[in-house]
Amino acid sequence: MTQRIGIFGGTFDPVHSGHIASAQTLVDQLSLDTLYFMPCQQHPHHKHPGASPAQRVEMLDLALAGKAKLQVDDRELKREGLSYTVGSLQAIRSELGDDAVIVFILGTDAFASLHQWSRWQSLLSLANLAVIERAGQITAAEITEPVLKKLLSQSVPAINAPSGDLIQLALEPYVISSTALRSAFSYCNLNGQNDTQANAEEEIIHHYVPAPVVKYIDAHKLYRVYRESH
Ligand code: ATP
Repeated sequence: MTQRIGIFGGTFDPVHSGHIASAQTLVDQLSLDTLYFMPCQQHPHHKHPGASPAQRVEMLDLALAGKAKLQVDDRELKREGLSYTVGSLQAIRSELGDDAVIVFILGTDAFASLHQWSRWQSLLSLANLAVIERAGQITAAEITEPVLKKLLSQSVPAINAPSGDLIQLALEPYVISSTALRSAFSYCNLNGQNDTQANAEEEIIHHYVPAPVVKYIDAHKLYRVYRESH
């Protein structure tokens, strides 16, 4: 049987239910044997450093425990310096062989800047792309970059080839981002429990972050002084 593998790239700082629920639906919709969350290195000059690479992986492990088809691929964090998706996909392709169906998954917000990624045209020779509509972010219809528009116009209804196709999928919307969650953790830390907004932020945290991950964030005092708007 041909292997069908999904790769979900991102920072996962921290992982949230928008990622997890989308991944579970994608396993079903794309008939994947396994979907790998592949955390990337944070840019060294990122203006808001959050959790360390090791902590992001530990949070992913906690969030995905018991979900056999959802796994973590931490190859980008093991490499020195910045790593590029195309290099990771090259390695994955050579490990799985030419016949495996590989689907690289990204939200519309990430897809909107795909043309700025290193050797982005090579991505489609290594994998298929699944572009998922992300609630509250740019929609596929709003993407104006000509090369990306052209790719979207060639979308296929189902992924069958090992690489080269793009599919667009509209999943159940989850209006949440890691940015909003980092701000929520920091707000709660700075403003305590007896504040209406802190209570609302706390509710967001518990709604969107798996309980073992919330516990981990508290134990490791993560996102305490995070200041940014969302
Ligand atoms: P940040 O707010 O720090 O940018 P994020 O919530 O966008 O983080 P990432 O780790 O950057 O999370 O996202 C990884 C991938 O998951 C990206 O392709 C992104 O488009 C997608 N994604 C993130 N949040 C959602 C969501 N709520 N629904 C669907 N896809 C999502």
